[in-house]
Order: sequence, then C-alpha cells, then structure tokens
Amino acid sequence: MERTLVLLKPGTLQRALVGEVVSRFERKGLHLAGMKMMQLTDALLSEHYAHLADKPFFQRVKDSMMANPVIALCLEGTDAIEVVRTLCGPTNGRKAPAGTIRGDFSMSFQENIVHASDGPDTAAVEIARFFRPEELFDWKPNNLLATYACDEY
Ligand code: ADP
Repeated sequence: MERTLVLLKPGTLQRALVGEVVSRFERKGLHLAGMKMMQLTDALLSEHYAHLADKPFFQRVKDSMMANPVIALCLEGTDAIEVVRTLCGPTNGRKAPAGTIRGDFSMSFQENIVHASDGPDTAAVEIARFFRPEELFDWKPNNLLATYACDEY
C-alpha cells in the first residue's frame, strides 16, 4: 500500500473543518498511519514550498501556513497519492469541482484547506519531513476485504 502526506492548513482549524476533512479521507477507505498537530516554521516551509520560492506570493503563503498550528496526516491505501489529490481537487478553490474538498470548502487560491503530496518521490520526502519514524504506525483495518478486492491491496 502507498502512503501520502496531507496537511490540514491553518484555515481549516480556524473554520473548525478538521473533523469534516479527516472524515472524507476515512470514508473513502484510506486509513491513518500517523496524525499530529504542529506549529510550522519559516525554515521548514521554505523547504516544503521551495518550488514556489520565485513566486511573488511565496512569503505570504508561508505566513498563512504559520498563522496557527496545522494537522499533519499520513494516509495509507492503494494508490493513496492519486486518490487523495483527486479528493482534494485543483489548487484554486473557486475553480475546484463541487464534491472535492477544495471545491466544497474553499473560495481561495491560497486558503485552500489542504496540502497533499503530488507524487511518490515528494510523498516520501514530505512524510519524512513531517513525521519521525516512531510517529508512523504499521497497522491495517480489519475489514480490508470490504474496501478492496483481494488483489487490490
Ligand atoms: P498544490 O497545493 O495544489 O499542490 P502548489 O504546490 O502549486 O499547489 O502551491 C502550494 C500552495 O501555494 C497552494 O496550495 C496555495 O496555498 C499556494 N498557491 C499556489 N499558487 C498560488 C497562487 N497563484 N496564488 C496564491 N496562492 C497560491
């Protein structure tokens, strides 16, 4: 099974949507390998958002991510990276389709509820960035055959 990193952004806590968003991932059939609350720092965000370093909104995005704590999730499931990105929807909440997390809860390009890893390489790096090995748990739901065919997990 694959693992991916999700951050519930500061606005998600402000708007009391943590349970709603975690619930969407769980109801889909993904399970939690790790979950914790963190106050992010400028240094960590400069690394995490290095691909945005030349954008005019770089510092603003980092400041928004430090406004209050975030919740970091490590989610596990077959094809978890792609499944989670599909559930989140495209970056701009105003353009994200209804039914996606961003489409249902965001009116903003920046304040878009969640971060989710965009590929296997970034997922591995991001999980290691936000979780120590002992904060991740290797367990499986007892009812996997209710969620998957026998050759899917
Ligand atoms: P995603 O989070 O969908 O993978 P990016 O990695 O491109 O998107 O951007 C990281 C974050 O930076 C976005 O989630 C969003 O909060 C912010 N961001 C990206 N592009 C813009 C933009 N044009 N205006 C404002 N904020 C942006």
